[in-house]
Amino acid sequence: MRYIQNHWLKVFFSGVIFLFILGPFSFASGEIKVLINGQEKQFSPSPIVQNGSTLVPMRPFFEALGAQVEWNGSTKTVIGKRDDTVVSLTINQKMATVNGNDVSLSFPGKIINGNTFIPLRFVGEALGDQVGYNAQTATISITSTQLSQIPTIKVHFIDVGQADSIYIQAPNHYDILIDAGNNEDGSTIVNYLKGQGLDDIELMIATHPHEDHIGGLDDVLKAFDIEEVIDSGEEETTRTYTDYWHAVEEEKTEYLQDQDMTFDLGNGIRFDILETGDGYENVNDNSVLTKLDYHNVEFLFTGDMESDVESKILEKDIQADILKVGHHGSNTSSSEAFLKKVNPKVAVISVGKDNTYGHPHQETLARLTDMGVSIYRTDVSGTIVVSTDGNTYSVNEDPDRISGNNADGTAITPGVPASSGKYLGNMNTKKFHVPDCSSAQKILPENRIWFQIREEALKAGYEPCGICKP
Ligand SMILES: [Zn+2]
Ligand SMILES: [Zn+2]
Repeated sequence: MRYIQNHWLKVFFSGVIFLFILGPFSFASGEIKVLINGQEKQFSPSPIVQNGSTLVPMRPFFEALGAQVEWNGSTKTVIGKRDDTVVSLTINQKMATVNGNDVSLSFPGKIINGNTFIPLRFVGEALGDQVGYNAQTATISITSTQLSQIPTIKVHFIDVGQADSIYIQAPNHYDILIDAGNNEDGSTIVNYLKGQGLDDIELMIATHPHEDHIGGLDDVLKAFDIEEVIDSGEEETTRTYTDYWHAVEEEKTEYLQDQDMTFDLGNGIRFDILETGDGYENVNDNSVLTKLDYHNVEFLFTGDMESDVESKILEKDIQADILKVGHHGSNTSSSEAFLKKVNPKVAVISVGKDNTYGHPHQETLARLTDMGVSIYRTDVSGTIVVSTDGNTYSVNEDPDRISGNNADGTAITPGVPASSGKYLGNMNTKKFHVPDCSSAQKILPENRIWFQIREEALKAGYEPCGICKP
């Protein structure tokens, strides 16, 4: 407590020095540049200098540093959280708290044009990051060791043709596999997982006993140590089911039938099993429903669940940014009411080219398109990998497979990947473009990232291209 007070006294004095010595330069140099761990980030609104103090917009700054921000309108209090640190600050007050300890600010936080601005020093030091400001170049630089440690989750929608197989690669070697394609896909999946450096599988989900979901699971069970298996509890008399069940028994793994439960994966990541009822006549409806939740980014995995069960679970916590579309895009799943509740931004359809079912059905694609959802299909893009740090996410398609058709089946401009988005970013240069910009066409497939809205690109640290001015 005493230390913190002294510490903040020093910060206050450095604020005074800013005011008299460095302040005037910042006024002259126009827009302030921000570097976080050496990478330039765009902020909207931009930081400003007022009365010699550098003020930054709290929400985008905290979020860029991996913190969550909550606003309490009635008390005019902003709360920022990162790992074990909780920062609370009330507008127009010079006192704030960090983990319950009072700290004084050089200037009180204030609302400018609807955005909460706080003194720059308070941002980094409250979160334990190093903060510097060079007035001559008008550059803020923040070094955050915690930020570089923010773990990434990768969700792999493995291309197994007309079937499902999803591998969730969470931090600390926590691996989850949902389904494993048809019988003949077993070795493909085992090789894919080995290629990802998989050691063992903490959790295996068999959504329902149809061949296109459990077919390759026996091969995976034989190839890796599996800690726990969860399935729908439905049995079938097929050879495929018998092979799967024998492999589960031989593995001597923990086995459970689906029910409401939560797995804490650490780093604020949770994986939920959502009970949707059992014993439905339609085997697809018994699909185990699961949800992956990492701070601001959520995934919903539906197996082959169809509309009648969808309508029963609308009151459950099913909102998600990324939806694994039910039953390979069949029109018997993805009802409008369900899609409205999930409210996805990205839809992934695991489907085989020229399949005999006509999946994905046009009605499903139309419903998703009407809602402004970006559609990705394994028959078009190959294996699709969605990466997230809990704040933003990127969707990566198989670079060898990107050619041919758009998600809606229409031909695409050569060189532009088959995915929908209003802006195309280059992960290398951190610039974004309109898709028909000549520079956008030259971006290598593996460096491409799509954005639906301009703010999304800016928030992810991308700069607008100077030529196409997106
Ligand atoms: Zn299926
Ligand atoms: Zn099925």
